[in-house]
Amino acid sequence: MKKHNFYAGPSILSRQAIDNTIDAVRDFAGTGLSILEISHRSKEFSAVIEEAQALFKELLDIPAGYEVVFLGGGASTQFCMVPMNLLAKKAAYLDTGTWANKAIKEAKLFGEVDVVASSKEANYTFVPKDYTVPADVDYFHITTNNTIFGTEIRKDLDVPARLVADMSSDIFSRPVDVSKYDIIYGGAQKNLAPAGVTFVIVKVDALGKVDRALPTMLNYKTHIDKGSMFNTPPVLPIYTALQTLRWYKELGGVKELQRRDEEKAAYLYDAIDSSKMFVGTVNAEDRSIMNVCFVMKPEYKELEKEFIDFATARGIVGIKGHRSVGGFRASLYNALPLDSVKVLVEAMHDFENR
Ligand SMILES: *Cc1c(COP(=O)(O)O)cnc(C)c1O
Repeated sequence: MKKHNFYAGPSILSRQAIDNTIDAVRDFAGTGLSILEISHRSKEFSAVIEEAQALFKELLDIPAGYEVVFLGGGASTQFCMVPMNLLAKKAAYLDTGTWANKAIKEAKLFGEVDVVASSKEANYTFVPKDYTVPADVDYFHITTNNTIFGTEIRKDLDVPARLVADMSSDIFSRPVDVSKYDIIYGGAQKNLAPAGVTFVIVKVDALGKVDRALPTMLNYKTHIDKGSMFNTPPVLPIYTALQTLRWYKELGGVKELQRRDEEKAAYLYDAIDSSKMFVGTVNAEDRSIMNVCFVMKPEYKELEKEFIDFATARGIVGIKGHRSVGGFRASLYNALPLDSVKVLVEAMHDFENR
């Protein structure tokens, strides 16, 4: 049966990225060796990482003065690397959910943290907008897409401080004005590659402003200076990331990805809004176009489990909501076709009309 993959992460990748990765596992770039068994310093792999960095810069229109590095440790390691490298005295954070919270916890290890606003009391059903960022902070940290709660900041904020963003789950879903950020980072396993690689876009000039001693591996400069080759980088996920980036370019770049993503999200949100059984969980204006969270209305609540089974029988996979929200979460990452969204919406209609 054809599967429709709505997992939140690791999550759907394009068939092209997966097939090309399989080919390279068998025979990488005509070397007669698998990509699993070749030196990361071979000229064949160097070409991969260089092209991946170049495509990042091209697709996101990254200005001069920024570098792209590929690291291990997941986005979660960036929660500590960011403050370690940038927080001299005080940083501001916006608390929009679980991931933001984890970032705040790590930042507190390195200095004063001003949480300028939080929607925690409302179980993160909206993105706070009524706050001011103190001008004297070293940076202001945001999570652009709240993967668990289904809210998103879909514009580049103007703040009187350096901006740092966790874009793990919405990178490449819209054009980004990178010049407004000092650091953009994310785990690759949502919109780019299998788990194992983390991308970091760093404004070089933001570094070197803290006095603390930085462990070599946790210093951005180490990885920038060595082109992400200070130690062995996550070779296989970087290879798959390159395949995804090539595919993005073939499709027409981030503007086209944005058009597709918005079309998919509108299709599903319209179905939720016109349903008598399902209801969205977050403020309409803050809705994520990547992770759509919804539940059954109170009078149908006991049917949630039954709907999961009903959908599973149609090949729909990964729609169970995160335990902190319940209900359902449909992740509509770039590689998910509109057809899969249509299958989900049809299942919702048919379930309602039974
Ligand atoms: C998944 C996710 C993370 C965690 O990423 P890891 O690579 O597992 O550490 C952090 N932030 C956001 C927004 C996420 O979606």
